Amino acid sequence: MHWVEVDGLQMPRRYGGHPALDFCNTWAGWGEPPKPTREWLKSYAHLVVWARHAELVEPEDADRLRALGGRRTDAGAEQVAEARRLRALLRKAVLQPTDRRAVAGVTGFVRRAATAVRLQPAADPRWEIPSSAGLAIPLLAVSWSAGALLTSGRLGAVRCCPGDDCGWLFLDQSGRRRWCSMGTCGNRAKVRAHAARQRRH
Ligand SMILES: [Zn+2]
Repeated sequence: MHWVEVDGLQMPRRYGGHPALDFCNTWAGWGEPPKPTREWLKSYAHLVVWARHAELVEPEDADRLRALGGRRTDAGAEQVAEARRLRALLRKAVLQPTDRRAVAGVTGFVRRAATAVRLQPAADPRWEIPSSAGLAIPLLAVSWSAGALLTSGRLGAVRCCPGDDCGWLFLDQSGRRRWCSMGTCGNRAKVRAHAARQRRH
């Protein structure tokens, strides 16, 4: 199965190798007519739980944000719409980093995140979106992560799963990985190839 349950919600498995690629994989069936079942970012609660699942938001912040989103449904829905917009732009920018429109679109999101992030003082300082950002925390966190991925020098290792209804992105560390997961897309293709061989005999 492509998903796991986190905090009572179905979340896509993290096969991407980078949170920003996992974010692109909150949709499956890229390039085909959309079906509702392929959308994982169904609501603001899904966006928050996904960000927690991707380790972009702390569990206690996630609980607080879910409660806040439950009270401010219109503002939450706006965040989901923006997140979906970023997702489409980011996927395009990852696969075609010379696409001016996509890169400019992602830049807008990264710029907003850049005005919010701060370095958290610690033995190992890290970037953090302050709690004052409220409902925007998950989107700002993933925007920041998107900027990091695009400038990581690793785009050449990004592959796109050719599985049916998939199109998930992942970092191919070994240079030999073809599927998002051998257990799902890879296995399905194997079964289909086997059935095709049987028909020929
Ligand atoms: Zn796949």
